[in-house]
Amino acid sequence: MIRVGVVGARGRMGIAVMAAVGEASDCELVCGVDVGDDQSAVDECDVAVDFTTPDAVMATLERCIAGGVHCVVGTTGFDDARLDTVAGWCAGNPSVGVLIAPNFGIGAVLMMQFAARAAAYFESAEIIELHHPDKIDAPSGTARRTAEMIGASRALHGLGAAPDATSQALDGARGAMVNGVHVHSVRARGLVAHQEVLFGGLGETLTIRHDSMDRASFMPGVLLGIRRVAAHPGLTVGLDGYLDDTTSER
Ligand code: NAP
Repeated sequence: MIRVGVVGARGRMGIAVMAAVGEASDCELVCGVDVGDDQSAVDECDVAVDFTTPDAVMATLERCIAGGVHCVVGTTGFDDARLDTVAGWCAGNPSVGVLIAPNFGIGAVLMMQFAARAAAYFESAEIIELHHPDKIDAPSGTARRTAEMIGASRALHGLGAAPDATSQALDGARGAMVNGVHVHSVRARGLVAHQEVLFGGLGETLTIRHDSMDRASFMPGVLLGIRRVAAHPGLTVGLDGYLDDTTSER
């Protein structure tokens, strides 16, 4: 049995994770903690799952890594500086596995992989991510990660900057720039989590779109992370390596 604690237990994702873990025959739900609760209950777990806020998650990670508790993190808002900090904590306790996945949806992970593959063949690439208006961070972690993967693929294949003659623009009109890729964030009531990756080449475009209609779509990926994190010591970013059951250490 894998002993699991959920941090952010009263949040939208936390509630869904508590239910999914509770129903998994190979997992035991040890605790669910939220703001104001005693976080020490998590110290007794094999795996801590964190769906909180960009501010709160760092405390979870520091505590769990030092205490030898593996971490499965869905909280978004990680930049390179934060990831470097986490990697430093991991170096201090190398047997601990930490998975930080900006998106636990299997379809979303495949969308990112397909986008990275397509990026080698198109002059232009932009990302449009669309989410519910209660989301704190923009762009989404998925969009950031997709942009990083596209940028890396473009660099590997010798593609320079995408063509863009814009010389006059209102602030934000071209979106945020992540690893050389423009990312546009839409927030509207009724949306859950959606993303389009738009590629353009001579006389053709390719659009790759993923839609999460329900938070249930993330649960198979979260359970996969819980089951495999102990076998992947160190920091892993993205679920990709877990799907292929090979590590993608950062
Ligand atoms: P949410 O409903 O606001 O839930 C966050 C929960 O964390 C709230 O209950 C919040 O409590 C709690 N929290 C805040 N600070 C805490 C602390 N110090 N210790 C313990 N709990 C704390 O948000 P959500 O929609 O569930 O999303 C949570 C995170 O997951 C976001 O970063 C979101 O972008 C991300 N997300 C990731 C995926 C993925 O697949 N990776 C999918 C969906 C969402 P209060 O409300 O009292 O502040």
